[in-house]
Amino acid sequence: MTKRDYYEVLEVSKNATDEEIKKSYRRLAKKYHPDLNKGDKVAEEKFKEISEAYEVLMDKTKKANYDKYGHAGVNSQFGREGFEWSNFTHFSDLEDIFGGGFGGGGFGDSIFDIFFGSSGQRGGTYRPQRGRDLKTGITITLEEAYSGTKKSIKMTKGLKCSDCQGTGSKGGSPPKICPACGGSGRVQTRRDTVFGTFATVTTCNTCGGRGKVIVEKCPKCTGSGSVRGEKTINIDIPKGIEDGSTLRVSQEGEMGSVGGPPGDLYVEIRILPHKHFKREGPDLVYSQSIGIAQAAIGCSLSVPTIDGKASVKVPAGTQPDTILRLKGKGMPKLRGFGTGDLLVKIKVEVPKYLTSEEKELLKKYAQIRREELS
Ligand SMILES: [Zn+2]
Ligand SMILES: [Zn+2]
Repeated sequence: MTKRDYYEVLEVSKNATDEEIKKSYRRLAKKYHPDLNKGDKVAEEKFKEISEAYEVLMDKTKKANYDKYGHAGVNSQFGREGFEWSNFTHFSDLEDIFGGGFGGGGFGDSIFDIFFGSSGQRGGTYRPQRGRDLKTGITITLEEAYSGTKKSIKMTKGLKCSDCQGTGSKGGSPPKICPACGGSGRVQTRRDTVFGTFATVTTCNTCGGRGKVIVEKCPKCTGSGSVRGEKTINIDIPKGIEDGSTLRVSQEGEMGSVGGPPGDLYVEIRILPHKHFKREGPDLVYSQSIGIAQAAIGCSLSVPTIDGKASVKVPAGTQPDTILRLKGKGMPKLRGFGTGDLLVKIKVEVPKYLTSEEKELLKKYAQIRREELS
């Protein structure tokens, strides 16, 4: 979707004054206000769109850049995903529009959800961060992939501090409501100007937006709630797993910050090459060399399988590179039922050296077959 022109969005002309822009924004903001359009995603998007346009057109530098270069001139001002509410600096204008204090009930629930996310954490722009995902790898044998296996690996990562149970507070005592913001995580400053009273809402410095403060930091983790350490993680590797596949071990990544959930651990499975078998999907391929007499007359062979041995009948007149299929002697299929096959690829070896006796016999054979020798 191409981005709409900001002037068009705000329904003003290119040379509109700040007053005209503000007037138009007020009108549109009332129209798309999320509390009047509950659950209406289109209105919510519109509300964001006009606010983005307002953010740019009310800022001298951004406006100049936009007038000169269009969206390309201002995109870098916003995050990777474009304009976010955290980029919006005109909350006071909104408050002015809708009346009432920002934290004082003038705004309904949905506007809070839009500005701060529906995380249930009403703490300014504060959001608990999910821990980072971690990656590691394990090498297993083909036999282990065949039968499935359990492995344990040691990971060095942030672990929940045992002294404070991850709270960061000495002895695990619960954090107290922040005295500076009363637990809201935001503080409001009012400014009286000739245009009226402006209120600015900022994240509380005392608690960093958490709404809670730790009275005495846990000495072991210095208040972070986590300590670096080694953890042994058990991993169930399902039978039939393929080389290069990745298993996700839920919640075994890095610890989340300030009560956020931990990340996940991704384990890449590598399978060692096997001395006998090549894997082709669920099938295993085994190459077997036989002599020309065995190929011509037919024979019975013993071949290795992934879990033992099997015998295979080579019919008379078998040609080189014939594939003999042993049903169900391959790898288990990871999803669904069944097992692959063992494919025995027959190589027919022509002897490189012959004893005089062998030579005599083959000459005699050639004579009978009328094969020209010289
Ligand atoms: Zn601690
Ligand atoms: Zn606070």
